Amino acid sequence: MASRPGAWPAGKAAATGSEGGAGTQAWPAPARARPGGYDFVVVGAGIAGAVAARLLFEAGYRVRVVARGAGASHAPAAIVNPVRAKRGKPVPEAAEALEAATRLYRRFVPLAYGLVHLVEEAAVPRWQVGLLESGLPHRWEKNALFLPTAFWLRPRRLLAGLLSGITRERARVVFLEREGIWLEDGRFLPGPVIWAGGAEGAGVLPGGSLTAGSLLRVAEPGDGRIQGVFHAGGVIGGTYRPLERYAEPTLTAGELSELRERAARLLGRPPTVLGAWSGVRFRRPEPLAELPGGLLFSGFGSTGFLLAPLWGRRLLARL
Ligand SMILES: Cc1cc2nc3c(=O)[nH]c(=O)nc-3n(C[C@H](O)[C@H](O)[C@H](O)COP(=O)(O)OP(=O)(O)OC[C@H]3O[C@@H](n4cnc5c(N)ncnc54)[C@H](O)[C@@H]3O)c2cc1C
Repeated sequence: MASRPGAWPAGKAAATGSEGGAGTQAWPAPARARPGGYDFVVVGAGIAGAVAARLLFEAGYRVRVVARGAGASHAPAAIVNPVRAKRGKPVPEAAEALEAATRLYRRFVPLAYGLVHLVEEAAVPRWQVGLLESGLPHRWEKNALFLPTAFWLRPRRLLAGLLSGITRERARVVFLEREGIWLEDGRFLPGPVIWAGGAEGAGVLPGGSLTAGSLLRVAEPGDGRIQGVFHAGGVIGGTYRPLERYAEPTLTAGELSELRERAARLLGRPPTVLGAWSGVRFRRPEPLAELPGGLLFSGFGSTGFLLAPLWGRRLLARL
């Protein structure tokens, strides 16, 4: 991911942002007949960029995606989980977000339906309150909460499907301006820009938080069970390690022992570890905001796969 942690955005983006006061200025509307041959340039090919590009493409816009590499979305498996495991609360707009994600993703990858939260007996009544308000389909079997419409999937296959048929370029963006973006090789691509840069590109607007985390690849396939960690698609995870600034994600010794311990509790025996994967999450209070030169579509925290399609509809409505 980022080769210069904390360095992005360099001068131009930061200066333009503070001068213009993001959120107050008009940004260039798409010009259908623009010479560049596209209407929007989307920066980022994680779940946010891929969903934005797909929805724009299907709405009839010509889209060009520019991304340096794999972001936090390239995990070996991901759950689309509408209930926060720590607090036992559904995420805001859980049912709507799940419906939007299901409708879009099922066209591109198999969805493995059914997630099960194992809940402490004393906490069941607290979980139940939020669930009833959310309208999410669910049922309890003793202390296990079964969510039949929640699912897990293979992110890389999904991203490939969402981006199929869309012009894509591997390049690093070094400056964002009101008129477009500058690439590392010196080329300028005119906007409007949809900035879906995730944690690596978090610096384009102030605010938000970064949390590194890791998953284990294990021999045990897993059936979508969640208790501190999730286990699905041969993956167990994840950990939460707050970061001051973006840094290339790595598995720490502490994370490895935490994951092994939690996995053993969930499985009833130590897992057979095959490898690990690490990434960095970026959370903003709201994942859609104005930027000089375009819109920011980023900051989905640990629920990017759940929330991107619902917010993608809102992105389209803003154009
Ligand atoms: C351990 C772990 C487990 C997780 N598990 C889940 C899960 O089960 N379910 C779930 O919904 N979410 C999960 N998440 C969170 C999920 O990964 C994020 O919500 C999601 O990846 C955010 O997607 P994104 O597209 O915003 O960012 P990213 O996936 O990080 O994509 C950012 C993109 O922008 C590009 N980019 C950035 N800066 C530049 C630049 N200057 N120039 C060019 N390109 C640039 C990157 O190369 C990349 O393509 C997990 C995260 C971690 C760390």
